[in-house]
Amino acid sequence: MFDVVVVGGGPAGSAASRLLASWGYRVAMLVGLPSQHPPLAESLPPSVRKPLGALGLLSTIDDSEILRSNGNTVAWAGAALRSTAFGEGGSGLQVRRDQFDSLLQSAAAEAGVYTIHGVARSVRLGDEEGKSFPGEVTWTGRASEGTVRGHWILDCSGRAGVVARRGLRRRHSVPSTLAVSAVWNSPSAWELRDPSHTLVESYPDGWAWSVPVSAAQRHVAVMVDPRKTNFERGEGLERAYRAELEKTVHHRRLLLKDAELVVTPWACTATPYSASGYGGKGFLLVGDAASFIDPLSSFGVKKALASAWLAAVVVNTALKNPQMVGPAISLFEARERIAYDGYSAQAADFYAQAAEYHRHPFWTARARATPEPSDPLGTSPDSESVLRDPRLPAAVEYLRSAPRFQLRLATGVSRERRPVVRGCEVVLEEQLVSPSASGGIGTVRGIDLPQLVDLLGTHERVPDLYEAWVRERAPVEIRDLLGALSVLVAMELVEPIPADP
Ligand SMILES: Cc1cc2nc3c(=O)[nH]c(=O)nc-3n(C[C@H](O)[C@H](O)[C@H](O)COP(=O)(O)OP(=O)(O)OC[C@H]3O[C@@H](n4cnc5c(N)ncnc54)[C@H](O)[C@@H]3O)c2cc1C
Repeated sequence: MFDVVVVGGGPAGSAASRLLASWGYRVAMLVGLPSQHPPLAESLPPSVRKPLGALGLLSTIDDSEILRSNGNTVAWAGAALRSTAFGEGGSGLQVRRDQFDSLLQSAAAEAGVYTIHGVARSVRLGDEEGKSFPGEVTWTGRASEGTVRGHWILDCSGRAGVVARRGLRRRHSVPSTLAVSAVWNSPSAWELRDPSHTLVESYPDGWAWSVPVSAAQRHVAVMVDPRKTNFERGEGLERAYRAELEKTVHHRRLLLKDAELVVTPWACTATPYSASGYGGKGFLLVGDAASFIDPLSSFGVKKALASAWLAAVVVNTALKNPQMVGPAISLFEARERIAYDGYSAQAADFYAQAAEYHRHPFWTARARATPEPSDPLGTSPDSESVLRDPRLPAAVEYLRSAPRFQLRLATGVSRERRPVVRGCEVVLEEQLVSPSASGGIGTVRGIDLPQLVDLLGTHERVPDLYEAWVRERAPVEIRDLLGALSVLVAMELVEPIPADP
């Protein structure tokens, strides 16, 4: 009997398994069987270092031979080819997914995860039919089969969605996208200003991208709409693939010189979807099992790792403190919805630009985001983005110039206990909830906003407020306190107390 059974050994499955095992839980992970397809190559943005750091894997990644890239080269919507470096000198990773996945699986095994090389054939969830038994997964391997039981089942099976497809997967009315990918070798260097870059380009009725995995090898894919292109298997697919490449400008030039096709094209579906629910008693949908975002964003793996981290936090919370299951799952659902919405809006912006230029149904049909239904927990800007609120400079100026201020909680703002992550657990904390921060906002720069509002009642100058905070709460930098106070003013969470008539 395990605490957790994880179905799927992609980035989400390995990450969730490793975290839970390193926190002392008994974890079984079913990694499936080797894929029939050649591996995909994918670009991971510099920000993927954050979730990899949370897994304790940065040095493993840095010591590996994974190719680094310092930016992207893009020719989109008729614009000239442009090479853009990632911000702040960051570097992304160009990964061959079979190698990346096996690195993560080894890291999970090192943390004590029991790895099963088998495919989940059936899953029974713990609370089905109202009975209370642990979840159960029956699997088949090459030469063996078995059943594993666990208090929690994490569906990390990607598009296969072993639990998600039992009525939770939400297909949007978006057109289908097919990725057709092949591998090319070039004996001479790729003719790009920075050959480590991913090259992305739009063409009249599709787009192409290529990811280098070494100095000599690139995976080159075209993204098409299967209803517009008549693909056949075998030789037919290769012909169709080459025909698509002919529509491009930069990939054609890149491959024309002396590149050789070394792995013939194969196809996989890349149509976005989300879920009507992301978890329940004893199970969660994690990573691509929960939702799939358009590959144009290049954020799928990062999203999967972030989803895995939060899933591990939810399971840890539930196993330690069963009465927190409901709030923890609500938080997980809210974060999954926000992530899907954010990335799908981003992709829709790019598609809208291309629709303006190419004016083809391939593009116009993709130029609208497909928002998730609004979340009962509401939404709020995160604690980083509130510090970029355009109203902030005026708020800082107001606080600097007013010798004294008398502020109180604004009308229409309430204090509510909402689920938040603290360390590796979900806890309930008081937050300020307003129409523009319906998801609640609790801390900014480490300062607890409801507590700051309490102190505002008795302190009318920034130096007094700062002194009181340090004395009664915790030592902080004055600029952090001023930042938090400015957010309260800028977001109209506090208002001046009217002077006595
Ligand atoms: C064409 C294309 C290009 C992409 N490009 C990028 C990119 O450049 N950058 C990026 O970040 N993301 C990219 N993505 C997205 C990225 O691949 C996914 O977001 C990411 O793989 C999600 O990880 P996951 O672990 O949730 O799912 P997966 O990686 O799909 O892992 C699921 C695992 O579960 C296993 N499994 C399935 N069914 C079972 C079963 N019944 N029993 C046991 N195991 C099972 C599968 O074999 C697989 O190993 C791309 C996706 C596509 C389709």
